[in-house]
Amino acid sequence: METEIKEKINSEKNCSIILRKYFISKNFLKKKKIEKNILKFQKNLTSIEILNEQLKNFLQEIFLLKKEFSFIGEVVQRINKDKILVKINQDGKFLVNCGKKMERIQTSPGARIAIRSNNYIAHRILSSKTDPLVSLMKIENVPLSTYDSIGGLDFQIIQIKEVIEFPIKFPEIFETLGVTQPKGVLLYGPPGTGKTLLARAVAHHSGCTFIRMSGSELVQKYIGEGSRMVREIFLMAKTHAPSIIFMDEVDSVGSSRGNSEDSNGDSEVQRTMLELLNQLDGFEAQQNIKVMMATNRLDVLDPALIRPGRIDRKIRVPNPNVEGRLAILKIHIKKIKVEPGIDLWKISKNLQGASGADIKAVCTEAGMVAIKNLRTTISNEDFNQGIRKVIYKGISIQSSIHSLFLY
Ligand code: ATP
Repeated sequence: METEIKEKINSEKNCSIILRKYFISKNFLKKKKIEKNILKFQKNLTSIEILNEQLKNFLQEIFLLKKEFSFIGEVVQRINKDKILVKINQDGKFLVNCGKKMERIQTSPGARIAIRSNNYIAHRILSSKTDPLVSLMKIENVPLSTYDSIGGLDFQIIQIKEVIEFPIKFPEIFETLGVTQPKGVLLYGPPGTGKTLLARAVAHHSGCTFIRMSGSELVQKYIGEGSRMVREIFLMAKTHAPSIIFMDEVDSVGSSRGNSEDSNGDSEVQRTMLELLNQLDGFEAQQNIKVMMATNRLDVLDPALIRPGRIDRKIRVPNPNVEGRLAILKIHIKKIKVEPGIDLWKISKNLQGASGADIKAVCTEAGMVAIKNLRTTISNEDFNQGIRKVIYKGISIQSSIHSLFLY
């Protein structure tokens, strides 16, 4: 009997524990549900905030789009006091009315004007010099490079002096003899052989402004603006005369028509090329502007671009031979500290197929090896390591294969 009563009490105790546990978990669940609802509410709030922010941005954009703006056009012809024929980008020509201020102002063909987008009224003349694209061109008043900083290109220097430097320095000799001055030269050869260096040096020795433009930039960076940029370059050369226009990678613009693989960009490249021909024909050599073009691909250039009268001399700038390599080494070694017994002749022999740029890279690499080994002078072995790293890692092999096929 006693044991029965004990069991009953025990079972009741268990029951109350279970009941207690049940109520605790029920409360816990309720609490969690409330927390979940709070979180859900907060999430909705943040998504509403995000949506509100987006809406604000859209409204701002709509406001800006609705706002009045201006097109930039180029004057083709002034028809009368209040009408002008203008060209707006690639959209074509438009006859627009003049605003009150513009009626009194003279506009010459080629001037840039602002035209209101809502009523097509020309309201302001813009200065051509403020064109932001033009400021991206690289201009050096007189470059610092000299002929002394060029190795192994003595023959090319003589030719460039004849065609560029002498006519700029002594125009009267050409005038007395009645000989037309050459307008420009084409430098062709593998990459890194010193074509840009030559152009800079001749600009330095003839005291010319050096204007550098890359053909690939003309067709890639200034899409739709290539021909205008060509015009602007020549205009700038005129205002900064005496000047040298150096057009690098000219093959990007001047490939012969059959060689163009991309038909979409074709017309744009053609337009740029035609403008280039136009400008080359348009300026007189006596204006103290010389054009220097450089390419790694003489084979693809349009013959029209490089015919005499436009480009009067074609100068080959090949990879240097062993003497040339020695001369280039001597130039670049001047800036670094080498061990007294260094064998430059042997190093130049080991540099077969290397371009000037490769040789410069080998010198830098040899210096790095010496630094790594905590030495203050560079040894023969450092140069050997530099050669292994630069020449036999495909850099020069590529350029020498290139030169084998093309030059
Ligand atoms: P790319 O065809 O790729 O434009 P490039 O022929 O114009 O090349 P540069 O830009 O003139 O070559 O040369 C690159 C660098 O290599 C130069 O700054 C110069 O340090 C070095 N270099 C090239 N050729 C010579 C050289 N003949 N004498 C001295 N240094 C040279």
